[in-house]
Amino acid sequence: MPRLLIATQNAHKTTEIAALLGPAWAVSDLNAHPDIPAPEETGETFAENAAIKALAASRLFPGLVLADDSGLEVNALGGAPGVRSARYAGPQATDADNRAQLLTALAGVAGKERTARFRCVLVLAEGGEPRATFDGTVEGTILDAERGDGGFGYDSLFVPAGFHETFAQLPAATKNTLSHRARAMDKARAFLAAR
Ligand code: IMP
Repeated sequence: MPRLLIATQNAHKTTEIAALLGPAWAVSDLNAHPDIPAPEETGETFAENAAIKALAASRLFPGLVLADDSGLEVNALGGAPGVRSARYAGPQATDADNRAQLLTALAGVAGKERTARFRCVLVLAEGGEPRATFDGTVEGTILDAERGDGGFGYDSLFVPAGFHETFAQLPAATKNTLSHRARAMDKARAFLAAR
């Protein structure tokens, strides 16, 4: 069975990517490889940060490595939190802290102005070299209070366009048909199948 290392310590990302790849792949992440440190994300774009993570792990791991850099772009906030989504409320922020920070930043912004998108950039690397980059987005709106217990990050505040429930209320299988990560993974899967 082919092996793929996901260059993340975020088990939620790994679970989604493993489901999106299907059972033909043996997927692991950095939680199973304490010898491979997560680098500092010093890039200004999702693509830069995904490449930093993929290459850092790929220099230490013999095989295919996939890194995900992703986040939420809110139009009323000029695209913030963007690449700073994981640390929006500070360097040690939890997902709950970041959601609270987002609700504060959007206080007073009317429903129809609360448009946003999730963006995901994936970089595939091997032998310390980048092999390919894939991206995906999903448009939606930000609620003024959390709804749902599933998912992670900003899921309980994000309603994808065409739906009435948040990503935290929708079944994981539904999120996996339309999310930013699902759309980027469609391209990654096609690339991996063709190589
Ligand atoms: P990264 O680890 O620097 O890529 O940070 C990604 C951050 O973006 C996460 O910590 C979440 O806050 C947010 N994010 C990315 N993808 C999702 C998602 O699918 N649902 C909810 N939040 C997400």
